[in-house]
Amino acid sequence: MAAIQHYDVICIGGGSGLTAAYYAQQDGKSVALVDDRPDQLGGTCVNRGCIPTKGLIQAADVMRTIRRAEEFGIHLDQSSVRVDFQAVLDTVRRRREESAASVRRWVEGAFEPWYGRAHFVDDKVLEMEDGRQLSAERIFIAAGARPLIPPIDGLEEAGFLTNESVIFDLDEQPEHLIVLGGGYIGCEFAHFFSALGTRVTVIDNSPCLLGEDDEVRTLFTQEFGKQVELLLPAQASEAVVREGQRGFIVSTEDGERTVLGDQILVATGRRPNTDGLALEKTGVELNDRGFVVVDEGLRTTHPDIYAYGDVIGQGMFKHTSSYEGELAYRNAQGAALTVDYSANPHAVFADPQIGAVGLTERDCREKGLDYVVARKDYADVAKGKIVGAPPGFAKLLVEKNTDRILGFHMIGPQAADLIHEVVVAMNASGATAELVRRSIHVHPTLSELVRQVFDDTA
Ligand SMILES: Cc1cc2nc3c(=O)[nH]c(=O)nc-3n(C[C@H](O)[C@H](O)[C@H](O)COP(=O)(O)OP(=O)(O)OC[C@H]3O[C@@H](n4cnc5c(N)ncnc54)[C@H](O)[C@@H]3O)c2cc1C
Repeated sequence: MAAIQHYDVICIGGGSGLTAAYYAQQDGKSVALVDDRPDQLGGTCVNRGCIPTKGLIQAADVMRTIRRAEEFGIHLDQSSVRVDFQAVLDTVRRRREESAASVRRWVEGAFEPWYGRAHFVDDKVLEMEDGRQLSAERIFIAAGARPLIPPIDGLEEAGFLTNESVIFDLDEQPEHLIVLGGGYIGCEFAHFFSALGTRVTVIDNSPCLLGEDDEVRTLFTQEFGKQVELLLPAQASEAVVREGQRGFIVSTEDGERTVLGDQILVATGRRPNTDGLALEKTGVELNDRGFVVVDEGLRTTHPDIYAYGDVIGQGMFKHTSSYEGELAYRNAQGAALTVDYSANPHAVFADPQIGAVGLTERDCREKGLDYVVARKDYADVAKGKIVGAPPGFAKLLVEKNTDRILGFHMIGPQAADLIHEVVVAMNASGATAELVRRSIHVHPTLSELVRQVFDDTA
């Protein structure tokens, strides 16, 4: 057997694993980058997640704008608007391939790539499928996650799509898509397909979509329900195929019914890619859901092994894993940084759009915080009226005696972009809501909505 190849650093995972790899390489360290999908370097974000889905949603948003043109006095023959589904997908696929190829060129210039599946065979020793072995002083596990498929009878036989399989490779636009799962992934795909003319049914076992602040998810569910059919709360008990259609038998409050379409999309959560890593060989513990257990410095239960990204199950967003990757690397070099998710924002790119950071009102209540809440509608500011006074609002939660920003939630146009001044304010050392209140905002912009909701808590 060939000798074990030794490095300063091994990063498992060519998605956010690249963050620790980058900082290690900048420090002049020898870096092995392990990934089992060399043609999809960049990981979920580049190939199966953020970037391709937002490419699809760009097309959906263009379509929604066209459909609303009349409101702004622009008359067009709506029946002449035609969707070239393959052209939409081709653009996304081409960009995805270009990005993955460019990441691969960078990886091969900067690190030593080890392509293939790896698992631990000993303390800090990994083995590839072909038997080659490597070890390192410090190891970073950023092996990501994959779709969690619920154990529903008949699902495998009926056939289904996920973000990993076929959805980006469909050669025909579905006529009727059944989406199982009303989280952000299900809703973003539902938005894309319905905007382009597919009939969409979303099934979820909760009475409301998404896991946002209650007022936000209530409005979202109400507005989204105007575009797609919602079966809430509903439990899919069995997948069925009938006369060339596939779908589910679902139990709802009104009894049992069968919902059939031409495609099923499963978006019921994510499970960590830890099952193939044989982590027991190296003393790294997993929690009861299979995610890697880390301390607040992102160190695992092994002193020289760190983990971050989807594999630790915190946040599970690209920006979160990039933040964690740098922090984990710095700690592995002797720093004593602790992760802080209190100002970790997120967005839902659907219609309406959502952007949020910090605690929900329910969190504040559960934590027993003494808080002030303010809410302002898009229609309350000049630019909100100009863009058509869409249903939507900004909601701010501020601690009563300290004026500390606890949480900020927006639902409506450009919410994902508009939350960032609040993220910065939450991160500013010693900052209170006053920082936003005393900042001059351009008139007329949607940012004035942010400023005005802050004024309401003064
Ligand atoms: C449909 C969808 C849309 C999303 N949209 C957004 C968004 O808009 N914004 C956002 O912030 N986040 C979004 N996310 C989440 C985001 O994509 C992930 O949080 C992020 O990409 C996770 O990065 P990671 O490095 O942890 O995992 P990954 O990027 O999945 O990287 C893990 C890599 O490790 C490899 N690997 C695993 N095990 C092994 C092994 N044993 N040996 C070798 N290689 C291995 C995997 O094949 C993979 O290449 C989305 C996710 C999905 C699914």
